[in-house]
Amino acid sequence: MALSPEQQAEIDALRSAPSETLRATAPGMERHLYNAHDVLDHGFVRVIDYMGDDAAICQAARVSYGKGTKSVQNDEGLIRYLMRHWHSTPFEMCEIKLHVKLPVFVARQWIRHRTANVNEYSARYSILDREFYIPAREHLAAQSTVNNQGRGELLADEEAARVLEILKADSARAYDNYQAMIGQDGQQGLARELARMNLPANIYTQWYWKVDLHNLFHFLRLRADPHAQYEIRVYAEAIAAVVADWVPFAYGAFEDYRMGGATLSATALDCVRRMVKGETVTQETSGMSKGEWREFEGVLRG
Ligand SMILES: Cc1cc2nc3c(=O)[nH]c(=O)nc-3n(C[C@H](O)[C@H](O)[C@H](O)COP(=O)(O)OP(=O)(O)OC[C@H]3O[C@@H](n4cnc5c(N)ncnc54)[C@H](O)[C@@H]3O)c2cc1C
Repeated sequence: MALSPEQQAEIDALRSAPSETLRATAPGMERHLYNAHDVLDHGFVRVIDYMGDDAAICQAARVSYGKGTKSVQNDEGLIRYLMRHWHSTPFEMCEIKLHVKLPVFVARQWIRHRTANVNEYSARYSILDREFYIPAREHLAAQSTVNNQGRGELLADEEAARVLEILKADSARAYDNYQAMIGQDGQQGLARELARMNLPANIYTQWYWKVDLHNLFHFLRLRADPHAQYEIRVYAEAIAAVVADWVPFAYGAFEDYRMGGATLSATALDCVRRMVKGETVTQETSGMSKGEWREFEGVLRG
């Protein structure tokens, strides 16, 4: 189970005691508040708190544009304008605080996003739970032959069984030794801060992660992308679904301009213009490298 009984009790208590507020609330987000969304085999994402909504983005933008915003009649149009023109600070007026439970190797990718506030479970202070990420059968794949950073074809049944056996056995043995090093009653035992060092990177950790909407969009753009590693992408997708309910106009603009959009170099744009005029442009006549041309064709094909 992803949530411990104590965590479930905390959620139940928080959701059963609503408090009145004069602050703006987002109805779509209230449904998510405190509730956990399962991710991977033992992980979850849950919203602990949030600030702002689509209206807060517009309110901040109107401070900078004053009467100028009168030309943009509705909030959705204004938000799309801001997203289109990279006027990003109004999006920073919204914040979200998440509680995330995730494998350590996913946390290592995640923590590279420096524009968030993080507080992680302390394995110096507390004993880690015996919970390890073991990939589902359909995610066990071989090294990709075309992408050095990714995975390719699925492992054959026999190979998958061999790999799973290693993953499970190593996780179990490492945790048994972790417990043995910490020591039983009467043994001196090794400090937790040292005993943890033989635990594998598929053990789960937990943290609170607070970020503003602008930087969250940057995170989602990179980590909900189909090229991101599956194990972090599923977290990003779970968060994206929450954000879509929280700030539907901002999320719609993000999906349209960032997730679904593409950035073209000046050379690529020139090729598009030549194509529109009827010219047959090839990689050789494009001025692009083979890699650039492959990606450009990918953008055009969709
Ligand atoms: C597909 C993929 C592959 C990757 N591969 C690797 C890899 O092989 N090795 C590796 O080490 N990392 C790798 N990364 C991590 C990547 O290089 C970034 O560290 C990570 O995506 C966080 O992005 P960020 O720095 O833009 O985000 P944030 O840290 O959230 O920063 C947001 C923006 O704030 C600004 N900023 C924040 N802090 C600073 C600072 N100290 N100085 C200057 N500007 C700052 C930058 O403009 C930055 O874009 C990979 C990421 C992806 C998505």
